[in-house]
Amino acid sequence: MITDILDISEQTKLKGQAVVVGSGIAGAEVAVHLARHGREVILIESGRDQFEPSIQALNDVIFAGKRHRELNPNSYYHQYLPPELRGVSRVRQFGGTSNVWTGKWKYLQSSDFEARPWVDNSGWPISFTDLLEHYRSAGKDYGFGDLEAEAMRPEIVALRAKIAAHGLKMSSFYWEETPTRTAVRFGEEMRRLKNLQVVLGATVTELKLDDSCQRVTAISCSSLEGRELIVEGETVILAAGAFETARILLASNSQLPDGIGNAHDLVGRFYTDHPKHHTGSLRPGSLAQEYAQELQYAPKPRFCICFALDDVTQQEQKLLEHVLYLQPIYEKPLERLWRNFRGRPAYRDDNDSISTYRVKFVTEQAPHKGSRVKLAKEPDKLGKKKLEVDWCFTDQDRQSMEKTIKLLTHRFAEAKLGTFEFGDDPPNLETMTDAAHQMGTTRMGNRPEEGVVDTNCRVFGTENLYVASSAVFPTGPSYSPTFTILALARRLGQHLLQTTLVNK
Ligand SMILES: Cc1cc2nc3c(=O)[nH]c(=O)nc-3n(C[C@H](O)[C@H](O)[C@H](O)COP(=O)(O)OP(=O)(O)OC[C@H]3O[C@@H](n4cnc5c(N)ncnc54)[C@H](O)[C@@H]3O)c2cc1C
Repeated sequence: MITDILDISEQTKLKGQAVVVGSGIAGAEVAVHLARHGREVILIESGRDQFEPSIQALNDVIFAGKRHRELNPNSYYHQYLPPELRGVSRVRQFGGTSNVWTGKWKYLQSSDFEARPWVDNSGWPISFTDLLEHYRSAGKDYGFGDLEAEAMRPEIVALRAKIAAHGLKMSSFYWEETPTRTAVRFGEEMRRLKNLQVVLGATVTELKLDDSCQRVTAISCSSLEGRELIVEGETVILAAGAFETARILLASNSQLPDGIGNAHDLVGRFYTDHPKHHTGSLRPGSLAQEYAQELQYAPKPRFCICFALDDVTQQEQKLLEHVLYLQPIYEKPLERLWRNFRGRPAYRDDNDSISTYRVKFVTEQAPHKGSRVKLAKEPDKLGKKKLEVDWCFTDQDRQSMEKTIKLLTHRFAEAKLGTFEFGDDPPNLETMTDAAHQMGTTRMGNRPEEGVVDTNCRVFGTENLYVASSAVFPTGPSYSPTFTILALARRLGQHLLQTTLVNK
């Protein structure tokens, strides 16, 4: 059932076995999974069916450090979106940010979960094998194609071997054609399911605890129209994205002055993104020409590949993971004429003759306690404190970036993949934008001193509060986060069915 907070009278107290906050990839996944298994679920969503700028403004933050996501709305990669959604990195609408992105769906690598002695605070307390079955089942359900089979395709194996000889590695991802839009994907089912109630237009402002301060007993919600609602649940799952999840925990400070889960001052800290540079190009060499079919991006959906320095180099040189994407730019008519005039042969993929490749670097940041979000003084339209975002880098980030670019430039030339051209704008952390991949603000740890949530994504110090989000990522290896958000949400749904939400 899908309802609006305005349809519910203020005297009503909604109760569910599970209450999920947020209807993006993470929240929709957990809520529908639990409801399909017969649990009474309430899904609270701040946004509504249509994008509303006044609701979106509840996401506004104050920047203390590097500004976040000041993207040119006319940039090539936003052209598929309606103008009001271009350049937006987190969306407050039914379906959340899944309304806007045509995604790269990618597994993390097993090495991404391991601690690297040269990267402080690296290593996940779970391993790749803990997520593999969830990646596989989600990939199947969502129709992403079989990434493991793709990695073993003869052409991919051959190209991987050729570049490995030059200290490079590559991995495949599934490049989706249209935004996933959970509100569309699950909308009909959500309407039909009698044991799932979606409440739109309801913004969670605070979680209330019992006297022991270990159990969430009630969730306060407000709407911009002034409507208030209290929701109760046995189990509460925050799936509001990495910023808003931290904000809800910090703002729930009437019983615990530092907020919930914040006994060790970790909520909101270790915020990382993937600094992104996309103004360079690659003049393709003979290997790129030979494998043009493998490097093409269209027609979507399809598998694509990205490149990085191999693990041995990263270890020897003490580097972070920096990933490089290549996207073909096809010849313009004048370029074609000029090439023909000079008697040069064309080289093509399945789409057209290629002129060059657009180069995009997406880099990992070292986990850094000082890179953080916290409550600001300034209130939003609901009277709740906005977030202050202090996104900052370390010397390790800068040195790693510089060294990686040098090595990649050398090795790409050596492997005959091609020559980079950065013009006046070489990749540089200060001028890079974020990738709209907010991570780390409620990181996972083995102990409360190391993280905000445990290995089952339960907030330390609480009995019934969980997080489903990239907020729990202890590191942000340089790959697209959302497949891992989805796999973790699936894993959490199964865990809850087997533990706190067992049918009696
Ligand atoms: C342009 C763009 C391109 C991207 N490309 C890629 C890509 O190629 N690959 C990739 O892996 N990822 C990509 N991403 C990132 C990806 O979109 C996110 O990782 C993913 O959508 C996050 O899902 P989520 O469910 O955690 O959060 P969201 O989808 O942001 O959902 C959070 C939900 O919580 C709601 N909410 C927030 N606060 C409250 C509150 N207080 N009360 C009630 N509800 C609340 C919001 O309205 C929202 O619906 C991209 C993002 C953008 C913007």
